[in-house]
Amino acid sequence: MTISQASANVCILSGLDTNKQFTANFNQGMEISLPGTNCVIKSHVSLSAYTSYRVGGPAELCVVPRSMEALQASVKYAKSQNLPITILGAGSNLLVSDVGISGLVIVTRHFRHSQFDPKTGLLTVAAGEPIPGLAWEVAERGWQGLEWAVGIPGTIGGAVVMNAGAHNSCIADILVSAQVLLPDGTLETRSREQLGYSYRTSILQGSDQIVTQATFQLQPGADPAQVLATTKQHKQHRLSTQPYHLPSCGSVFRNPKPYSAGWLIEQTGLKGHQIGQAQVAQRHANFIVNCGGASACDIFTLIRYIQEKVQEQWSIWLEPEVKMIGEF
Ligand SMILES: Cc1cc2nc3c(=O)[nH]c(=O)nc-3n(C[C@H](O)[C@H](O)[C@H](O)COP(=O)(O)OP(=O)(O)OC[C@H]3O[C@@H](n4cnc5c(N)ncnc54)[C@H](O)[C@@H]3O)c2cc1C
Repeated sequence: MTISQASANVCILSGLDTNKQFTANFNQGMEISLPGTNCVIKSHVSLSAYTSYRVGGPAELCVVPRSMEALQASVKYAKSQNLPITILGAGSNLLVSDVGISGLVIVTRHFRHSQFDPKTGLLTVAAGEPIPGLAWEVAERGWQGLEWAVGIPGTIGGAVVMNAGAHNSCIADILVSAQVLLPDGTLETRSREQLGYSYRTSILQGSDQIVTQATFQLQPGADPAQVLATTKQHKQHRLSTQPYHLPSCGSVFRNPKPYSAGWLIEQTGLKGHQIGQAQVAQRHANFIVNCGGASACDIFTLIRYIQEKVQEQWSIWLEPEVKMIGEF
């Protein structure tokens, strides 16, 4: 099993024939029932609805499991057919190629449950739980520790893999352990120390382990009104400084310390620069927004353009934070 995170150099501009890259085994409109579950694998599913950029071609096969049994059966099916697996959470840090993705795409966003232990302050949540909803729920209970995350529109699984962070906090600060599903179908628990966390990275990136749930250490017992107020403050700050009104993937580039990528891009005069329908956001230069009808190719070409211009002016090559999946 491989989790695709490849980024290539060629951007296919026209004449896309998605069927060409897919095996002939899975014709359009096919449905494959997974035995022992009520879960169905579908063929040729458009992924634009599954990414926050609202771009991307079809998945050769796609499944949206709601239970552990369905997730395990999906992995087993892929293995039996020798298909590569690509995992999508909320698709909020992904650029999926216009050509699509071959193999099986497993979307974990409907894999949901949560368990609060008020005695210990431990919160255990399934990979598909959306972070903003969880941050509000935690705040309403008067638990501290997740206020910073309210503006991150991803799932717990994606956040654990990415070490998502904001307002000087990140997942690694609160994670106790994560449960992962291995290619052979077994479940294992990994401690925070085993996940090799640093700035927006973990050893889970590019690995063949699927995060199924995570346990966090939070602090219960605070005044809910106070935790809600801090959470709201963080949300409002984000809304006023970032372009939440247009499709994006958040920050496109990692910050090359001591600089911020946004500052470098702005100083290079690229704010508002547009290729096709992809634009460097006016409100935050490290965001590329889809102004309506952008292709993945527009966004990819703009990413390359920014990298080249910043390199010319600052001799710094900006590394993408966004994961590019498929052929470009
Ligand atoms: C408006 C906006 C604001 C944002 N602000 C922030 C921010 O402040 N801080 C920040 O860190 N990020 C931010 N992001 C980026 C993004 O929300 C985070 O990176 C988030 O953690 C991604 O979660 P996801 O579920 O969408 O993952 P996806 O984008 O679906 O996937 C990201 C990576 O994780 C892998 N993955 C996802 N789920 C699993 C799983 N269960 N098991 C194994 N692998 C998995 C995928 O294969 C992929 O490699 C922002 C994005 C947007 C659109």
